[in-house]
Amino acid sequence: MNISILAVGTELLMGKTINTNATELSKALNNLGHTVQYHLTIGDNPKRLESSLEYLLSVSDMVITTGGLGPTQDDLTKETIAETLGLKMQFNEEAYTQMIDRFKSFNVTMTQNNKKQAYLPEGSIPMYNDKGTAPGFIAEANNKIIAALPGPPHEMRHMYFKCLEPFLASKTTNCIKSEYINLFGIGESSAESKIEDIISAQTNPTIAIYANIGQVSLRVTSSASNEIDALMLLKPTVDAITERLEPYVIGYGEHDIMDYTVDLINQNNLTLSLAESCTGGLIASEFIKYSGASRFFQRGYVTYSNQSKHDILNVKNSTLETFGAVSEETCTEMIEGLFTNSQSDICLAVTGIAGPTGGTLDKPVGLVYIGVKVKDTIVIKQYNFTGDRTVIRRRSLLNGFFMIYDTIKKTCN
Ligand code: AMP
Ligand code: MG
Repeated sequence: MNISILAVGTELLMGKTINTNATELSKALNNLGHTVQYHLTIGDNPKRLESSLEYLLSVSDMVITTGGLGPTQDDLTKETIAETLGLKMQFNEEAYTQMIDRFKSFNVTMTQNNKKQAYLPEGSIPMYNDKGTAPGFIAEANNKIIAALPGPPHEMRHMYFKCLEPFLASKTTNCIKSEYINLFGIGESSAESKIEDIISAQTNPTIAIYANIGQVSLRVTSSASNEIDALMLLKPTVDAITERLEPYVIGYGEHDIMDYTVDLINQNNLTLSLAESCTGGLIASEFIKYSGASRFFQRGYVTYSNQSKHDILNVKNSTLETFGAVSEETCTEMIEGLFTNSQSDICLAVTGIAGPTGGTLDKPVGLVYIGVKVKDTIVIKQYNFTGDRTVIRRRSLLNGFFMIYDTIKKTCN
């Protein structure tokens, strides 16, 4: 089916709340083999809700709304949907029974006001809200379907998976499969130009490119009547792209360079320590996001000042004076000092100028040195990153991970 998602809530337009519902629903709907046509966001306004529903129904088979179902605004979304589909509001026994159960479960007496929530567009299938009180529903008329879900993401998610997904699964006949090819060290447009002919010949599977800071992923998606055929359709394209972009392919699936690096560290049973200057603990914090990090993560120093580089890492004062804190020489001594302190299998040191101040002609903002020692191999790299302070620190983090990943690959296998 062609489905559009309509998010209702003034807070979304004010920039106070991120529309995560649309993202989550799109992912789930695509996985089921449905096509998402539009994301539309409107405020709590019945007129715009009605005109948006009319438009989306004119181009899609189904519209899923999120938000505006709470007791204070329940008339808005439900009644507008009923009006748009030409349906009356009707007391729904099933929704009422579900609500009584729900209220009983948390020992609260239902009020007349709550009872009003059991009125739904006539003929609707109620959807049980096991995380809140407002029921959702699926209403059908004139070969069009509208499903209404609540706004709070945890309520929306539960209701979708428990009630709406089983309904939608029965409406799809094809199976959609996607594979992600993840690249590092190549930009979006260079990657695209290397596979231009494959992209322009695409029909099934289709190819999409996603770029994040420093990371590029290619999504290859096929559609077939069953899973095996869909997977078979994917393979030749995934293989052809992999062959073309071989030096940049770091892996497959919904993973990033951090995931692959942590996997490699664990597979090789290595230990790790860090000495960070311009990233100020960012890299340590990223590693510690992984449960089980205590197996490999030994220590992380934030040596921001020259004094700390000297005191903790034994960087020579003469090195700092002659070459400066942001230099290959200082980075090398940071690595050596870190290894002396930690004896870790992997040592990483980073020193750079994140800006916006502190740059000079010789050493501009974005100049970053990253050093990695894996066992007996030391690699020091100079980067000239672009972007603001946050982006430069993020690029340092990603390239730090990549240098660890790459050095392990080259030395441990
Ligand atoms: P409502 O169902 O309209 O009363 O929404 C209640 C709360 O859910 C809002 O205050 C938001 O915090 C959250 N919410 C509503 N819509 C969305 C959305 N599309 N994405 C994420 N959160 C949302
Ligand atoms: Mg709302």
